[in-house]
Amino acid sequence: MRRLTATMLITVPLLLALPGSAQPPGPPEIGIEEIRDGLYKVTTGPRVSPLFVFLVTDEGIVVVDPPNPAATSIVRDQLESRFPGVPVRYVIESHYHWDHVGGSRLFAETADFIAHENMAINLAGTLSESPPPGNTRDLDGDNRLSREEALTGTRANFDRFDTDRDDFLTPAELTAEIQPPTILFSDSLEIELGGKRVRALWSNNRHTDDLIDVYFPDHRVLFAGDYIWINRLCCGFGFDERPMSVWIESIRDLERLDFDILINSHFESGTKADLVAFRVWLETLEASVSDAISQGLTLEAMQAQLEFDG
Ligand SMILES: [Zn+2]
Repeated sequence: MRRLTATMLITVPLLLALPGSAQPPGPPEIGIEEIRDGLYKVTTGPRVSPLFVFLVTDEGIVVVDPPNPAATSIVRDQLESRFPGVPVRYVIESHYHWDHVGGSRLFAETADFIAHENMAINLAGTLSESPPPGNTRDLDGDNRLSREEALTGTRANFDRFDTDRDDFLTPAELTAEIQPPTILFSDSLEIELGGKRVRALWSNNRHTDDLIDVYFPDHRVLFAGDYIWINRLCCGFGFDERPMSVWIESIRDLERLDFDILINSHFESGTKADLVAFRVWLETLEASVSDAISQGLTLEAMQAQLEFDG
């Protein structure tokens, strides 16, 4: 794991990368790689550019998290040419953030759309109830975003979203590219297609209240959402202000799954060992800071003294 210091953590972590901080619109750099037995990973560009996966079976294709129309249309064309006559039967949507499901409508003709039940609520919510990815917030509470309020990827994509050209983004404009889910679940849902199982698992209130992870038990692969990125603290604390014990326990839950390849929603992929290392690092962080607090150290003293290698 990359070396992080307490200074970076307790102040603003330099490696804290924000979802939604996609690059301005341009031709996406698509990379398609078969991970294992018909399960493919798609990269859409460098660094924080979202990743997604698809599974090809004899009976159809499952796409997880088609992120935006530009990247998704390229992949859809690839699917049609590589696997002619095999329809996309299911799209699994990990959560309501536009940077992960903004390409879903492109499969509306053939697919059912699976998501956590809270995603339907979030898509219908105000900007305060279900804010966009990253740190973009409706600061004046008028349920629309000005250019000044829109940050990172939402600002970079402002003109694309602002379809009525009034220089504000409404919730309807931000969600226009997202296909609302048609199959909802609360805790977990397993589908089987072409003899392969795909299991959607609620992430138990990590990042957003609708976030799910997607587990492929026959492939021993886990696609994990916006709270687990290898070698990075993820996602903006504004979206994950839960006790460290919750973070640690949610990772332990994933460790109980039988998998060896971990694909993250952003940045690099890895193995179960990387996930374990991340959890151990968080445990070390929690123990060290708790110990420092019990010794009466000031924040400044902690930032000066505590270091964590991994
Ligand atoms: Zn997100």
